[in-house]
Amino acid sequence: VVQMRDVNKHYGPLHVLQNINLEVKRGEVVVVLGPSGSGKSTLCRTINRLETIDSGEILIDGVKLPEEGKQLANLRADVGMVFQSFNLFAHKSILENVTLGPIKVKGMKKGEADKLALQLLERVGVANQKDKLPAQLSGGQQQRVAIARALAMRPKVMLFDEPTSALDPEMIQEVLDTMIALAKEGMTMIVVTHEMGFARRAADRVIFMADGQIVEQATPEQFFTNPQSDRAKDFLGKLI
Ligand code: ATP
Ligand code: MG
Repeated sequence: VVQMRDVNKHYGPLHVLQNINLEVKRGEVVVVLGPSGSGKSTLCRTINRLETIDSGEILIDGVKLPEEGKQLANLRADVGMVFQSFNLFAHKSILENVTLGPIKVKGMKKGEADKLALQLLERVGVANQKDKLPAQLSGGQQQRVAIARALAMRPKVMLFDEPTSALDPEMIQEVLDTMIALAKEGMTMIVVTHEMGFARRAADRVIFMADGQIVEQATPEQFFTNPQSDRAKDFLGKLI
């Protein structure tokens, strides 16, 4: 579904992504690990073109990411993204937060969008909150709404950038459970997380980044029990 070929990106003198080659197949769940500043968020942001790249190419279902315009909006709809902060529209109801994209970007009729949104809110367990405003929900509930909102666009791949790191501990698991269910349903997912339990349980593959490079790729089993590089050993050694 996602192919990155020789992707490079700089921020001024900083070579933040260095010759990234990554292929994520349909239904695959890839967890991206690495120290702070290694380029994990930047990698995610290039995949839905929140960030441009300097060289190389990124393809979604074989189609190269366009530079701009309507095509870009369409391709972005194919790539759902959930961030650390929930980014819901504060003055719109939970239901409206989910229906907005399908109505505005996909031209879906309101009745149809409402039906879809209710199904998705049901699936992430917050349908009973549909008429509230985001601020009236807990962080975990808001993050599940953010997942439903991304799913409403029927994305080909879902990107998660530390979706639980802003949550209180008791709310982390409900969001992880939602993500695990999504993974089991066959969603293609790229997940940046510090939740090693999620990586062990849900990942088909772990990617370890350091200094803008993919240093290691392995199954979770291999990576956690037998990391190859010193950087990965060091990283795992610091986790308790
Ligand atoms: P963390 O685990 O802390 O979220 P990360 O692996 O997601 O880290 P990135 O956010 O991708 O790291 O940042 C990689 C590097 O690029 C860092 O050194 C960061 O300071 C730098 N960087 C990120 N965004 C910008 C920007 N807009 N302008 C300049 N430098 C940036
Ligand atoms: Mg980050």
